[in-house]
Amino acid sequence: MLGLYVHVPFCSAICNYCNFNRGLFDADVKARYVDALIQEIVGADPRVGPGRTHGSASIPADVAPAADTIFFGGGTPSLLEPEEIARIIGACESAFDLAADREVTLEANPESVTEARLAAYRRAGVNRISFGVQSFREDELRRLSRLHTVGRARAALGEARAAGFDNVSLDLMMWLPEQQVAHWLESVDAAIALAPDHLSLYMLEVYPNAPLKEDMARARWSQAPDDDVATMYVTAMERLETAGLEQYEISNVARRGRRSRHNLKYWTDGEWLGFGCGAHSTRDGVRYKNVASTEDYIGRVGRGESPAIDARRLAPDERLGDALFTGLRLVDGIDTNAIQTRYGVDVWRRFGADLEPFLEAGCLLREGARLRLTRAGMLIAHEIMTVFV
Ligand code: SF4
Repeated sequence: MLGLYVHVPFCSAICNYCNFNRGLFDADVKARYVDALIQEIVGADPRVGPGRTHGSASIPADVAPAADTIFFGGGTPSLLEPEEIARIIGACESAFDLAADREVTLEANPESVTEARLAAYRRAGVNRISFGVQSFREDELRRLSRLHTVGRARAALGEARAAGFDNVSLDLMMWLPEQQVAHWLESVDAAIALAPDHLSLYMLEVYPNAPLKEDMARARWSQAPDDDVATMYVTAMERLETAGLEQYEISNVARRGRRSRHNLKYWTDGEWLGFGCGAHSTRDGVRYKNVASTEDYIGRVGRGESPAIDARRLAPDERLGDALFTGLRLVDGIDTNAIQTRYGVDVWRRFGADLEPFLEAGCLLREGARLRLTRAGMLIAHEIMTVFV
């Protein structure tokens, strides 16, 4: 089944490390953007194939494409009003055959929610909340120029529970400026104490043109050495697993039944449609990319044009490389028999010689038809994955 991604490019302030497609919140632009999103979702769309629509309300439900996840990502999707989220979900319902047990995720920043607002999102059809917490230390939040406090993050999780959410995820970031191993583990333990259903652990990447890079130079902040980062990662995973949060992907852990069904589509060679500015789609071996600028997006959709500025049929080797590259991110790894069936390629014959050193070093495991990373391998995953691309 398809996953549906909806991009919301608005933020209350721009964080100093951010490299996402986003801009400052403007109520007028937001209102026009939501209308454009709905028009894109229900309107004619060449992505489904020449001359066809994927979502016109006139198409009977039994021929509408089936989808079972909606993911509101950003930006800060919790800057949209609950009724706007309800309208967008309604558009998805009219355009797609949405599964009854659909997963509908909303990314939210702790400072932008209240219990009443979260309850309204729940009534609008959202059933999973993902909070961008990043750290449970005030000094780290201030260095990242985040707007929320540790107290607000804790309160937000409690408010989500009170509002009826039984599927709550938190994002944490490691390798922050001045962060030591003990600081990081403080955040991990604080997260565990809040008993989330899912956690994503990201490593900070300081982009060359990020204001954070200048902040770091000015304040002489540094990042921990590589060995410490390895300790941060491995120790965090051990503590999370002890707490009942099982690792299922390089950066993600979850309680039983709470893995991100939407994100699993990206890692299991699935298909998804992305709506909104800068959104990507992958369907029937074609990758589409929407125009990045919010105003250009609104303009194109308003004129009845497709917002997709790029459509590229992936070469067979590219599809295979993507399937292997993303599949290896999963703790369960890759089923080489399934790859053989789908792509007609014997992974061992094609890549075996290049993979051998990693197998010998204990970074990769071969278990029957499965190939998977060990935790040591996850620390050098990018190096290993380059074998495939
Ligand atoms: S809230 Fe998220 S998307 Fe917005 S500026 Fe900060 S990091 Fe970027």
